[in-house]
Amino acid sequence: MPRDHRGKETQSGPSGRDGLSPAKLAPHPSPTGELVEYPPPERWDDWVEYDGRAWPARVARRYMLVPTTCFNCEAACGLLAYVDKDTLQVQKFEGNPVHPGSRGRTCAKGPATLNQIQDPDRILYPLKRAGRRGEGRWERCSWDEALDAIAAKIRAAIVEERKTEVMYHVGRPGEDGYMERVLQSWGIDGHNSHTNICSSGGRFGYAMWMGVDRPSPDYAQARYTLLVSAHLESGHYFNPHAQRIVESTMKGGKLCVIDPRLSNTASMATDWLPAWPGTEAALLLAVANVLIQEDLYDRDFLRRWVNWEEYLRAEHPTEPVTFATFERILKTLYAQYTPEFAERETGISAAVVVRVARDIGAAGSAFCAHNWRAAAAGNLGGWQVPRALFFLNVLTGSVGTLGGTSANIWDKWVPAPFLEPPKQKVWNELSWPREYPLAHHEMSFLLPHFLKEGRGKLAMYFTRVYNPVWTNPDGLTWLEVLTDETKIELHAALTPVWSETAWFADYVLPMGLGSERHDVHSYETHAGQWLGFRQPVLRAARARLGETIADTRQVNPGEVWEENEFWIALSWRIDPDGSLGIRRYFESPYRPGEKVSVDEYYGWMFEHSVPGLPEAAAKEALTPLQYMRRYGSFAIAGDVYQPYERILSSEELAGTEVDPATGSIWRLPHAATAHAAPAGPGHSTRPATRPNMVPRPAPPPRADGATRVGIMVDGVPRAGWPTPSGKLELYSTTLRDWGWPEYALPGYIRSHVHPDLLDRSTNEFCLVPTFRLPVLIHTRSGNAKWLNEIAHSNPLWMHPVDAARLGVTTGDLVRVSTEIGYFVPYVWVTEGLRPGVVACSHHMGRWRLQEGSGGDRWSTGVVDLERPAPGRWLMRLKEGVHGFASDDPDSSRVWWTDAGVHQNLTFPVHPDPVSGAHSWHQKVRVERAHPDDRYADVSVDTARAHAIYKEWLARARPAPGPGGLRRPLWLLRPYKPDPSAYRVPDTVEPEGR
Ligand code: SF4
Repeated sequence: MPRDHRGKETQSGPSGRDGLSPAKLAPHPSPTGELVEYPPPERWDDWVEYDGRAWPARVARRYMLVPTTCFNCEAACGLLAYVDKDTLQVQKFEGNPVHPGSRGRTCAKGPATLNQIQDPDRILYPLKRAGRRGEGRWERCSWDEALDAIAAKIRAAIVEERKTEVMYHVGRPGEDGYMERVLQSWGIDGHNSHTNICSSGGRFGYAMWMGVDRPSPDYAQARYTLLVSAHLESGHYFNPHAQRIVESTMKGGKLCVIDPRLSNTASMATDWLPAWPGTEAALLLAVANVLIQEDLYDRDFLRRWVNWEEYLRAEHPTEPVTFATFERILKTLYAQYTPEFAERETGISAAVVVRVARDIGAAGSAFCAHNWRAAAAGNLGGWQVPRALFFLNVLTGSVGTLGGTSANIWDKWVPAPFLEPPKQKVWNELSWPREYPLAHHEMSFLLPHFLKEGRGKLAMYFTRVYNPVWTNPDGLTWLEVLTDETKIELHAALTPVWSETAWFADYVLPMGLGSERHDVHSYETHAGQWLGFRQPVLRAARARLGETIADTRQVNPGEVWEENEFWIALSWRIDPDGSLGIRRYFESPYRPGEKVSVDEYYGWMFEHSVPGLPEAAAKEALTPLQYMRRYGSFAIAGDVYQPYERILSSEELAGTEVDPATGSIWRLPHAATAHAAPAGPGHSTRPATRPNMVPRPAPPPRADGATRVGIMVDGVPRAGWPTPSGKLELYSTTLRDWGWPEYALPGYIRSHVHPDLLDRSTNEFCLVPTFRLPVLIHTRSGNAKWLNEIAHSNPLWMHPVDAARLGVTTGDLVRVSTEIGYFVPYVWVTEGLRPGVVACSHHMGRWRLQEGSGGDRWSTGVVDLERPAPGRWLMRLKEGVHGFASDDPDSSRVWWTDAGVHQNLTFPVHPDPVSGAHSWHQKVRVERAHPDDRYADVSVDTARAHAIYKEWLARARPAPGPGGLRRPLWLLRPYKPDPSAYRVPDTVEPEGR
């Protein structure tokens, strides 16, 4: 029987809710994936290890082990900081064995947190620009000075009703809910994200099926896993997912990977299917067609849970609304997607398509699939890839099942804070423009174009763990706008390290790294719910020694702060007397009128909004906060399967009525319910557990104000799905009614890099620029010496057939021309890529403009950036990576020189007209480098970039949609505004919608 992290037996099932046992020290790996050797929690106050550096002498060192979570990717694996009890410094980071998601394991990036906190190039003090923006002259300033200047800007914008002029633009949030509450308390619609250069294609495809925009695969129990990308080594929730995929394969499960590149994951798969980039949906629909034609689908699941009745009524009004009718039509709907058609489109043989389909059919309800980024993020119409992929889950009935694919909201818990601000009554069209009413989510990468064409300006712009100049496409357009003070009046970069973007800020404010800040988070790593707690480990260690730490700056290096305390202080300065109604959200729930501390913020949350935590803490004579500080995580629920089947209780059904036509169960506006979520402000005396705050779509209320609570299925009231129909939507009325009726059913959209659009005779290729390397993570790993020593080059992958045609070999320089410029990498000839495609990892090509500052010297090269004419840019590498003097002796031992090539600068924006996702793949021409070309050269024409933005913008079909709205009310979006803000002012609803 599985045990909890105190060694007690539990009733948990196959997903191993609390499956780690410190009592077990077995010499062999556990067959169920449990970690078997690690320091048991009862010894975390005093753990002894011998000092490896003192070897061969046996020098014992004593440690306090303090849990926190990794901030190097979105997985938030549990870490244990080994805090030396003599020096009170962190000696190393290892995995936290009691963390339910990562279960004691990390990837290489977790332990490299040590490099990051010891990085000699990190920013230790607040800085203020001294010269022109981007000139590179900085002076130290106090936190007070920075807070006063920023607060004044924000207060003026709020008071003068310029609420769309304050924007917080985040790359990696690393937390759930904190910032949305801050922004909502200010009454602004100021959140911006990186989602549309990342996951929006994936999100949109899933959202159209189930109303939820993220999948949660139950990998460990799967009999067949189908991945669209390289999840084992670098995909979403990398380490937690990878270990569970390995578990499945060790038990005999099959693994199939669709990826044009032979990733490490593909190399371990049963089948590697290198489909032509952008044709993946054709392949998946051909698999679906085989399942349908060979009756390998789960008839009963389709009959009960798919909105086929709605489809028949809308599209076949003369046909009887029976499942037999639907099955007959279904056999024709996808008949065009024959295996032979898939072979022509994708290059994967028809026989393989049929074999894979039959394997998937055999796996049935234990078929597990995942797409995130990759094809969904690379292509025009990429969102149809996850939609076609989830179609296979629907056909096999593997939705929310053991070994199937769930909705992420079942496997996630977001605790509520102590006082929730009302929804904002403003809509920011700089983030949510009318052209993209269905975008998932903010059209963040178009911001500089919106500012260029005069759609607005920003009085205050925060960038936080966000580096658009380097990460986004078209970075030089970002640079042009960031240096224009009429478009962005004040820019504060919240960052632990220098970046290409921070260089163009007015204030650079040093924020804590993963082990120097507080956050809560919860991710869908398996079929269970857990809450993780990131904490500043030195603060927690000193608290264990009895010290009272009121401000994290007391323990962080220099004047490095943590963001939570920064936002509390800033909010008080925006509204010092409370007259704007802001300050109250940052007052203590325990000490009325006084500033809330982070201990109180999280303490209240853990006391009131995490089911089971107060009881678990009480058993150990701890407060919930003390429990989370000690263990760093809490398992809330395990083995969460098929919650959509849950039968509604009589209390839930009180005051409801059933619509006989649709089966929807509606609660009338004034009906009482025992299950209504508690509303209004909470205080420490509140006894009830507050609800899971996971963002949930909710169907719009009926005209009479009734809300849907469930759906009748075969005469039984069940929970159902948060979609307009309450069922899984093969047929999307949302797409139909919001301007895209041709995509109401899952289908295949030919990508902008389809082979028919490429002229091979002029050496045109599809460039795949999106793949990750397992040891790097965007901007965030540039400060980790171990990681940069392992990986520091991004050559252009090319198949030997293509290399022979071009007459190049490994190491030769080539010029890769895009629509707006070119870059010059060297070639790596490999059979690990399908012919006709070239690929280049996006991790490298970091740069700085000054020798001694502006970027981590482990990872950046020094460049000259010239502007020979308006809109024309030329970047040339002056100096690669080399050793440097610092307090870290390793810095003088740097042996690598390559910093890679910054390809993203040469990509124009390609917003998908439906999902809003940037379509990353590029049609490029590859040729031998010109005589004047030098390695890592980048040339860009930003005027041409703006013209291409206009071309793609013209493909969009703008709001208003039905009801004169900007966006369907039911669709997810971060920190939803009040419904009143959804209405497009002064517009007439278009005909036919
Ligand atoms: S997968 Fe690696 S980088 Fe991501 S959170 Fe886990 S240890 Fe950190």
